[in-house]
Amino acid sequence: MNKILEMKNVSLTYQTMTDEVNAINNLSFYCNNGEFLSLVGPSGCGKTTILSLISGLITPTSGKILLEGKPLQENIMEIGYMLQKDHLLPWRNIEKNILFGLEIQGKKTKENTTKALQLLDKYGLKDFRKKRPDELSGGMRQRVALIRTLALNPSILLLDEPFSALDYQTRLAVTDDVYGIIKKEGKTTIMVTHDIPESISMSDKVIVLSHRPATIKKVYEIDFEMEERTPLNCRENPKFSRFF
Ligand code: ADP
Ligand code: MG
Repeated sequence: MNKILEMKNVSLTYQTMTDEVNAINNLSFYCNNGEFLSLVGPSGCGKTTILSLISGLITPTSGKILLEGKPLQENIMEIGYMLQKDHLLPWRNIEKNILFGLEIQGKKTKENTTKALQLLDKYGLKDFRKKRPDELSGGMRQRVALIRTLALNPSILLLDEPFSALDYQTRLAVTDDVYGIIKKEGKTTIMVTHDIPESISMSDKVIVLSHRPATIKKVYEIDFEMEERTPLNCRENPKFSRFF
């Protein structure tokens, strides 16, 4: 497998008016093409910071980030970023929310629009096209947020605690739903979470982080050796408790 993303000795220190916060310290890891990678760590350890670095929103204080072997700044690869809150615009209907990413990036061509709307249909949101976000359940909204991200056809998908705003039962169902869509679309995914069971149920590899500044405590390969893997059937698998 080839590495799609590589972090090499990355550190990040936030400068504030009064203070310096060392959020990431000498972090190195990689993600293979097609892999589902989770980073698990306690609140405030620097998880969101790692995703902000990968998406290029902030630059490392030291170290290197490579996409397909090239420095982040030189790569034109699209990165999709999905947050804990769905951030759907309440005054736009679902269809217009889905097209928003393409719009602000100036990529709303006929072809891209058609593709985005096909994703809506493919994942059961056809009848919701003209509805507004507040007419949808939390789970549905999260599906819309995922499709809005996928509409940009990203090579890597970054998920920042994407289910933590949902109640437990909804969360289990939405996790299965989102996982199914990601696998069908064949996306390389990096998810950060503080939820250990969630990371085990979805990932090929789990990286456990320390308290701030985030450093790697341990890397676990998660292989359930199942043909039809879903997060729910992973949770029911005897191996689950061993991984936990
Ligand atoms: P996590 O996502 O794991 O909860 P974050 O990456 O959001 O953690 O934050 C890591 C640390 O960096 C925290 O102590 C947080 O307060 C601090 N931090 C995050 N963003 C900023 C910022 N823009 N300026 C200063 N400190 C920040
Ligand atoms: Mg966070």
